[in-house]
Amino acid sequence: MNATHVAQVVAAQPNTVALFISDLHLQAAMPRTAEAFFRFLRNHALHTRQLYLLGDIFEYWAGDDDDNAFNQQVIAAIRVVSNSGVEVFWISGNRDFLVGEKFAAACGIKLLSDPFVVCIGGEKIVLTHGDSLCTDDHAYMAFRAQVRQAKWQSEFLARPLEQRKAIIAGLRQGSREAQKEKSDAIMDVNEGAVRTMFDTIDTVTMIHGHTHRPARHVTQSNGTECHRYVLPDWNWDCDIDAMRGGWIAIAPDGKIDRIGLDGVVLR
Ligand code: MN
Repeated sequence: MNATHVAQVVAAQPNTVALFISDLHLQAAMPRTAEAFFRFLRNHALHTRQLYLLGDIFEYWAGDDDDNAFNQQVIAAIRVVSNSGVEVFWISGNRDFLVGEKFAAACGIKLLSDPFVVCIGGEKIVLTHGDSLCTDDHAYMAFRAQVRQAKWQSEFLARPLEQRKAIIAGLRQGSREAQKEKSDAIMDVNEGAVRTMFDTIDTVTMIHGHTHRPARHVTQSNGTECHRYVLPDWNWDCDIDAMRGGWIAIAPDGKIDRIGLDGVVLR
């Protein structure tokens, strides 16, 4: 965490109307990150009106029948928030796109398509995980087109759970190796794809994750200033210098803030 970015500290119960998170990559092997998520739910999500989970909340999702103890713990924690009256929404990421209606019902959340336009405080905001904007990564886009087909998904989900987990483990390993060969630019969003999304959806605000490059970008679209907010990934299971996480918050007056670890507002 860079001290120069610290502007003010938010109270434990921020007065927000909506919170956005993504890319926690939750997994049993990273218990501190899971604890940080549970703390975020208790301290922040319980005190807002809407919570948006924008993809890759899980490191992987093999199917709604994968009801291991860790997944059940995460579902129960989200359920506490939705039971309290907070509306919870979900856009799948490239890791957890196999989440289905059974999971949604267990959590008490609503699955949204990607991209999805919301209206918060009179402002139209387009929400997306962000992977569909990375059009320079041709190999990934081809893979995405395949695995997002309903036929591919129903065939995959018909396999035994253990077989699905083995296939996913192979895909994760392959993805790690492929990423070493890809340039930073290829794995970031394509500016043309971003402008096209702003133009098509006719909005000036976008929130997404996926790239793990938290920022607020200003883009021109048809002569209008557009703002693209990028969410951070989370990792509390590493050296203290590398620890990261955070969210985006919308205040009742429509102000959008990027919030870092422990509720610190980022400039
Ligand atoms: Mn992703």
